[in-house]
Amino acid sequence: MRDTASTAPTNWARNITFSTAGLHRPDSVDALRALVAKSPHIRVLGSGHSFNRIADVDADRDGVLVSLAALPGGIEIDTEGRTVRVGGGVRYAELAARLHEHGLALPNMASLPHISVAGSVATGTHGSGNANRSLAEAVRAVEILTGDGETVTLARGDAGFEGAVVSLGALGVVPALTLDVEPSFDVAQSVFGQLPFQDLDFGAVSSAAYSVSLFTTWRAPRFDQVWVKQRQPAGLDFPWAEPAVEAQHPVPGMDAVHCTEQFGVPGPWHERLPHFRAGFTPSNGDELQSEYLLPREHAVAALHALDAVRDRIAPVLQVCEVRTVAADTQWLSPAYGRDTVAFHFTWVADTERVLPVVSLVEDRLSAFSPRPHWGKVFTADPARLADRYPHAADFAALVRRLDPAGKFSNAFVRALLPR
Ligand SMILES: Cc1cc2nc3c(=O)[nH]c(=O)nc-3n(C[C@H](O)[C@H](O)[C@H](O)COP(=O)(O)OP(=O)(O)OC[C@H]3O[C@@H](n4cnc5c(N)ncnc54)[C@H](O)[C@@H]3O)c2cc1C
Repeated sequence: MRDTASTAPTNWARNITFSTAGLHRPDSVDALRALVAKSPHIRVLGSGHSFNRIADVDADRDGVLVSLAALPGGIEIDTEGRTVRVGGGVRYAELAARLHEHGLALPNMASLPHISVAGSVATGTHGSGNANRSLAEAVRAVEILTGDGETVTLARGDAGFEGAVVSLGALGVVPALTLDVEPSFDVAQSVFGQLPFQDLDFGAVSSAAYSVSLFTTWRAPRFDQVWVKQRQPAGLDFPWAEPAVEAQHPVPGMDAVHCTEQFGVPGPWHERLPHFRAGFTPSNGDELQSEYLLPREHAVAALHALDAVRDRIAPVLQVCEVRTVAADTQWLSPAYGRDTVAFHFTWVADTERVLPVVSLVEDRLSAFSPRPHWGKVFTADPARLADRYPHAADFAALVRRLDPAGKFSNAFVRALLPR
C-alpha cells in the first residue's frame, strides 16, 4: 500500500499553482481511505483541466490534494444492465474506448476526451446538442467517501442525489460513479465555413444535427466555422454555409491533426463527438477559458450584445464557441432547469489582459441570467451566483449533512454557499 506525494502541482493550463507542496497518489482504496481519515482538510484533483481554484485546498489549512489516477481497476462494464462503474480517476478517453469495445456508448462527450469523468461531472461539464444534457445526467449513482472514512452511495431517486453529482468536490472523495450507457453508434462530422450573424435562424441551425458548435473569433460579425456532428444513419441538410475544403482546427493557426475526423466520414461516437483527439493536445494548450450558460431563447440577443463589444473581445481571444445543452436536473448544473445556450471563450494566456474583458462579457450578458461554467475563469461574485440556482440552499444543506466538519470545503465553495 503506497501513497506517494510529488511536488508543486499546477493545473493543465498552468495558470493555477495549488496551495500545497505535493500531490498524493494513493494506489489502493485502503490507502485513500486512510489518507482521508487522517487529513483535517483534503480535496481531490481530477485531471486538472479547470482554470480556477475550484480544486484547490485552502492555503491557511495545511490541506492535502489527492489524485485518484493510481487507483486500480477503474472500469467495470455491465453489458446487459447497460451500466458502467467508473473509478474516480478515470478519464473519458479510456472509458470511451472500453465501452466501444463492448458495443456501448455514452450519449455525448465534451470537446476533449482527456478529462476525468468524476472531475467533469463535478463541474457540470457538457458537450453540445439541443437534446443532449450535461455529462452529469448520465450518472445513475455516485459513491462518496466521507470524512470519517465511510462510503455513502446516492443513486437516482435517493434524497439529495440531484445535489451529489455536480458537487464541486465539496461532499467528499468520489472513488467511483455508475453511469448509464447505450448501444454504440456512429457519428459523421462535417465542418462548414462562414455563417453571418445577420438573419441567423439560431433555432434552425442548432437543431440541424445531433450536435452543433459555432465558432467565431469576433473579428467580424459572423461565425467562421460551424462543426456539425450527425448521429448515423440520419442524413444532413445544412444550407446556411459552405462545406470546408480543408480539415479545420477551431483555433486559427492550429494544426487540424489534433482534431477528430471531418468531411462527413462516419465513425465511432467517441472519435467524432469530441473536437479533439485523445493523444493530441486539445485546443491550444496555451490559454485561459470562460463560459456562460443562459436560457436558449436569449441566444440571438446575447450574440448581438457581445457583437457590440467585439473590438474589445477579439484582441484577447483565440476563439469563441457557441453551443446548446438541454435542460437537466442536477441542482448545481449551469444547465439546471433550462434549455441552454453556452457562450465559451478560449482566451490568450494572459490573465491581466483577459480579466477586464471577462468582466465586460459578464456585464454584457447580465440581462440574460448567465451561469458561469464552474471550471472556468469568471469574475462574478460567487455569493450572488447562488441566486441563479433554485436549489443552492438544498446543496448547502447536503454539504452540512455529508461534510459537517468542512473537511472537503474550500474558499471557492464557501464563497458560493448561502449562509
Ligand atoms: C482544453 C479544454 C477543453 C474543455 N472543453 C470543455 C467542454 O467541451 N465542455 C465543458 O463543459 N467543459 C470543458 N472544459 C472544462 C473541463 O471539462 C472542466 O474543467 C472539468 O471539470 C475538467 O475535469 P477535471 O477532471 O480536469 O477536473 P479538475 O479540474 O481536476 O477538478 C474539478 C472539480 O472536480 C473535483 N473532483 C475531481 N475528481 C474528483 C473526485 N474523484 N472526487 C471528488 N471530487 C473530484 C475537484 O475537487 C474540483 O472541484 C475544457 C477544459 C479544457 C482544458
